Amino acid sequence: MTTFKIAVFDGDGIGPEIMAPTVELLRKICALSDAFDLEFTSLPAGAGHYRDHGVALPPASIAAARTCDAILLSAMGLPDVRYPDGTECVPQIELRMELDLYAGVRPVFVQPGQDVPLKSERVSEIDFVLVRESIEGLFAPSGASEQIGDTEARETMVITRDVSEKLFDFAFKLAQRRKETGRGIGRVTCVDKANVFPALAFFRKIFNERAANFPDIETQTAYVDAMALWMVQRPWEFDVLVTENMFGDILSDLGAGIMGSLGLAPSADIGDDHAVFQPCHGTAPDIAGKGLANPMAMILSAAMMLEWLAQSSPITELQDFGETLRRAVSDVLVAQEHLTADLGGTANTDQVADAVLAAFRARLS
Ligand code: NAD
Repeated sequence: MTTFKIAVFDGDGIGPEIMAPTVELLRKICALSDAFDLEFTSLPAGAGHYRDHGVALPPASIAAARTCDAILLSAMGLPDVRYPDGTECVPQIELRMELDLYAGVRPVFVQPGQDVPLKSERVSEIDFVLVRESIEGLFAPSGASEQIGDTEARETMVITRDVSEKLFDFAFKLAQRRKETGRGIGRVTCVDKANVFPALAFFRKIFNERAANFPDIETQTAYVDAMALWMVQRPWEFDVLVTENMFGDILSDLGAGIMGSLGLAPSADIGDDHAVFQPCHGTAPDIAGKGLANPMAMILSAAMMLEWLAQSSPITELQDFGETLRRAVSDVLVAQEHLTADLGGTANTDQVADAVLAAFRARLS
């Protein structure tokens, strides 16, 4: 039996409400395996922690997270808790920087039978992955903001060769894996604004250079404004999209909209040594404390964690359980009996998590 250490950040707002049933679900799933177990360690961080203790991401939490095999994070931030410069606490972004998590993986997929906003016979063909660069671009800490009195403010976009090369290699390898498993056609699209910004022309140049090392993968380039249009008009045509941090931030919410709710959009922030698994959504203060939050994005992020752990482990059950968990969420979605309000249902958070566990058990038996 192998035990994996999992760091858990409950976060703010609906964060604890979706994390608790997800951890409970994972514990019950582990009980069905003779091959692996998960040991959870809860770590403090978040806007609430900043309000109460003056620090959003304690160094001790980062240090403890570094010793774990993977990190589960719900969502952090509260609109009314701000730093003196007027910006919000974003410890989830600081953690990406601290742990060098350059590849933000945001899958967008629609199951046959799932009710989604786009009306087309081809919606069930939607299955692509947005890879968002996650430690530089317009979010780079070294691109320090500048405020000139009360008349001007400036931001700087940072694109480095080192991070871009790792990012593109990650995207090409992901496309290879998707092609091998029949989930993708083997194509990576670089989404940028290379027609206007020299930093993004540089980004595209590095993309084309790295593409030469992956002759089995087709490449495309697209401007981000056109991509926003095409993601609505023909999202089933994409396989792997790779883009700058801010563009990825925005397009991943569009991806969640295609799926029908932010409450369905999982993600992983992956680096060479660490990985954080968290939903794309935020802390949803408008529904916090009411038991209305959809836990599916959190559960699907946990499924991604199992599949990621499987990549460096001989335990085949990790991959099987990750896939089965993903499919169990799809079963609940398609059955439409236990859905939260964001998907038009009346179920509460715990009822959805229970339904996913039942679907998981049904698939295993
Ligand atoms: P949000 O994602 O929290 O909410 C946007 C909308 O989606 C809201 O109507 C909300 O109710 C709904 N929603 C989100 N998750 C849901 C879920 N699981 N189930 C049902 N409905 C859900 O975005 P926001 O309102 O712009 O931001 C709120 C706070 O979250 C802010 O403090 C922001 O900084 C923070 N935030 C954190 C992260 C993160 O931790 N990764 C990401 C985005 C925003």
